[in-house]
Amino acid sequence: MSAAFSESRNQSDKRSTSRPRTPRPTTPLRPSSHSSFRESARSSGEQDAPFPLNAFEPAFAELADSIADLEANLMHFQLMHESLARFGESFAGFLYGLNMNAFCVDFPEGPIPESFRHPREHGTQSGPKSRDARGTEESESEATFMTTDISFVENPVSQKSSKFTTPEAKAPQRILQRLNMPLTRHMFAAAQRAAVPTMGLGLRRMATVSSSALDQKVKQNNWEEGNFINYKKMAENLAIVRGRLNNRPLTYAEKILYSHLDDPHGQEIERGVSYLKLRPDRVACQDATAQMAILQFMSAGMPSVANPTTVHCDHLIEAQVGGAKDLERAIGINKEVYDFLASACAKYNIGFWKPGSGIIHQILLENYAFPGGLLIGTDSHTPNAGGLGMCAIGVGGADAVDVMANLPWELKAPKVIGVKLTGQMSGWTSPKDIILKVAGILTVKGGTGAIVEYHGPGVDQISATGMGTICNMGAEIGATTSLFPFNDRMYDYLKATKRQAIGDFSRAYAKELREDEGAEYDQLIEINLSELEPHINGPFTPDLATPISKFSQAVKENNWPSELKVGLIGSCTNSSYEDMSRAASIARDALDHGIKSKAIFTVTPGSEQIRATIERDGQLQTFEEFGGVVLANACGPCIGQWDRKDVKKGDANSIISSYNRNFTGRNDGNPATHSFVTSPDLVVAMTIAGSLHFNPLTDKLKDKDGNEFMLSPPSGDGLPALGYDPGQDTYQAPPQERASLAVKVSPTSDRLQLLEPFAPWDGKDVLDIPILIKCQGKTTTDHISMAGPWLKYRGHLDNISNNMLIGAINEENGQSNKVRNIVSGGYDAVPAVARDYKKNGIKWVVIGDWNYGEGSSREHAALEPRHLGGLAIITRSFARIHETNLKKQGMLPLTFSNPADYDLIKPDDKVDVLCTELAVGKPLTMRVHPKNGEAFEVKLSHTFNEPQLEWFKNGSALNTMAKSQK
Ligand code: SF4
Repeated sequence: MSAAFSESRNQSDKRSTSRPRTPRPTTPLRPSSHSSFRESARSSGEQDAPFPLNAFEPAFAELADSIADLEANLMHFQLMHESLARFGESFAGFLYGLNMNAFCVDFPEGPIPESFRHPREHGTQSGPKSRDARGTEESESEATFMTTDISFVENPVSQKSSKFTTPEAKAPQRILQRLNMPLTRHMFAAAQRAAVPTMGLGLRRMATVSSSALDQKVKQNNWEEGNFINYKKMAENLAIVRGRLNNRPLTYAEKILYSHLDDPHGQEIERGVSYLKLRPDRVACQDATAQMAILQFMSAGMPSVANPTTVHCDHLIEAQVGGAKDLERAIGINKEVYDFLASACAKYNIGFWKPGSGIIHQILLENYAFPGGLLIGTDSHTPNAGGLGMCAIGVGGADAVDVMANLPWELKAPKVIGVKLTGQMSGWTSPKDIILKVAGILTVKGGTGAIVEYHGPGVDQISATGMGTICNMGAEIGATTSLFPFNDRMYDYLKATKRQAIGDFSRAYAKELREDEGAEYDQLIEINLSELEPHINGPFTPDLATPISKFSQAVKENNWPSELKVGLIGSCTNSSYEDMSRAASIARDALDHGIKSKAIFTVTPGSEQIRATIERDGQLQTFEEFGGVVLANACGPCIGQWDRKDVKKGDANSIISSYNRNFTGRNDGNPATHSFVTSPDLVVAMTIAGSLHFNPLTDKLKDKDGNEFMLSPPSGDGLPALGYDPGQDTYQAPPQERASLAVKVSPTSDRLQLLEPFAPWDGKDVLDIPILIKCQGKTTTDHISMAGPWLKYRGHLDNISNNMLIGAINEENGQSNKVRNIVSGGYDAVPAVARDYKKNGIKWVVIGDWNYGEGSSREHAALEPRHLGGLAIITRSFARIHETNLKKQGMLPLTFSNPADYDLIKPDDKVDVLCTELAVGKPLTMRVHPKNGEAFEVKLSHTFNEPQLEWFKNGSALNTMAKSQK
């Protein structure tokens, strides 16, 4: 196992296996008596005396001349990347040869002899050139940087350090130090890139991609100018990390993440342990979460977003009677929110997708996703873009703001779960059944902290949109994201959506757009698609997976309501052209037999493009003829935006959808609704029968004349033969001239409020302040900032702060939302007491137990205490994301250095927080003044680093950013 990767490799169950790993040599630097490079590699186990490097000094000097000369050409990119790479290869081969006992002859003066060049199939030539003064100066300055950038360890195999530990990483620096020669980052990277393929020395060759092939300027999408896909930079980053990881074969997920590292040289990397600092390519926000994200971004004082960003209006449209009318009504109700988002997007250079354009994830797949890219989105089903090989991760608004403001984004290095697909799907089995099966295997928690990576021969038959479906619903198993490797199906989809140039560029980088041979997964699941049955999952949880052959029995055994009331297809999960075509083929089959949908049937197209295309191609008319209601291109019933009238709240009933989530009450707010999820194919089939007992694979229906017939298996085109019809133009591009634009926020709005910058720290200790609440037991982000009806106020910090900590239990009385006010002496709601303290200029603290702030990454849970005058949250421990969120808002998240001190604190104590002691790595003191008794001190620990301390001092991370803009 790699030194830097010491995670345990779980073998989960009998379906799980792990692949053997390719052994790699770790031979120390020493001489050899062998004349052949390859021979010496084979005998590299011997131990000899240290190698006398000065014997090769003339040759090193020659190489140094050449290196310095190449450095002088750094401005000429083509020359640099081709020539330097060639020198890098030769030099690295030379270094590697030393390392592998390759040399036994005197090194001659003059050009590097053929025998010392790197033993690759594609031989390279390099020749000496004269040194150039400018090149030398540049080299020296960079050499200084490198000296601090690299640390050596004597036993790389036993080190967990992420610093350079590999022989090829150490050798260039060590030799050049001896020779007093400069080594630049560029040269080092080139040498490492070239050294990487040699590590297997014939055992295994790592693919490298021609530098010039990656020099193209290919736009990320057809909507934005100036945003390009940077495979070249990704390849360079990846080469650096490969060198550091002993050339261990990488999963595709790792390749994407490591190629987006902010600091590939210095980043600690340990799967499941380290926190990676990443540079995503894009940000996407849906309308409900975009509000606070943009409000926060505005506080940073930046003129525009630093990274490409889009906002999508899809969550606020309620399904009532049908697409056009519902959309019109939603535009009226949500006008102030839409006006705000549209104006802010124009002002800050953000692409704005108007209401009616479609669901965020379908729009991203159709327009923005590209293989190998890294996207963060403020919605949990962002992973949908994995259908185009993009690493797309759902995050909270604060994380999105970081990337919009050009801060690196932090992610715990995920574990990687492999799902190997073999065989071929046929008949009624569809891509949805793959994820329904996986959800059954892994359960709703099984993917937590992991990326699910699909691979194997079975992936090539799945359409890009089908892969999107599978990745989308990976959120239901808690996965960080899900991914498919780049393949021809993705190319076809890119071409069909007018992005063939991206497809061609991806082909040039294709070797890095999939897993390496021998890549190791933390867990491996194998699914034979030839044997995969259609599945139905639910009710109430998406991981209760039942194959169709056993479903009728399960309905009986569990006493689920067998009459099917409503079938719903669409949502971001299953609304592709392929989904709609297959579903329409079943509906047409029924119509051809003279029957229609028995249950209520609804369709939500994923985008305006899909709606317009299926309208043109006839599927939409088929659905309407079948009895269906076509809803707006939006989330609708999937997020509970459904004015359902066919059952009363509390009545037990069953519905089935092609959506992804089916938790209690999610679709219609009725906890008695049994919601099942399945493929659109089965939704339509069961809607025809109107019964959960129907199995279209085995059961017959009756036609209009009472004759029995069986539905034909679904069929349909993956891509529209006539191309996609874009439909109405629903995109608002940001204008070129934005400085004079104003963001529209009504001062009387109860849904939107501009954020005022928080006050900076006054540089003093904070004395004699109350404990607002001492929380007992679990305090999650739901306890700190509840959802439900409060969602409406997500864009209004003052209004939503009225839910602050109303779910937390007060240790003093065992009740929620009832705390004592030290000013009035009476009891009141937590937010009311906090407001009273704020009004009287009194800061306050909260005392919490273990893992305070677990749950979601909701930034409101950190914004609200800051807004209502809190100074510190003091706990036994924090959920990491919440702790970071608190720091970002200028709060002090502190932990008892001795967790037992939690028990010493009483809710009516007062405390002094000695903020002036705050320093990196040092605890600070809290003086406790019990109501009756002697004052005592406890030590409080923290995890602030230097930049984060600036956040506290300046009042918030955004203030710090704003300050840096001045
Ligand atoms: S359709 Fe459903 S799952 Fe998809 S983004 Fe909308 S609410 Fe979320």
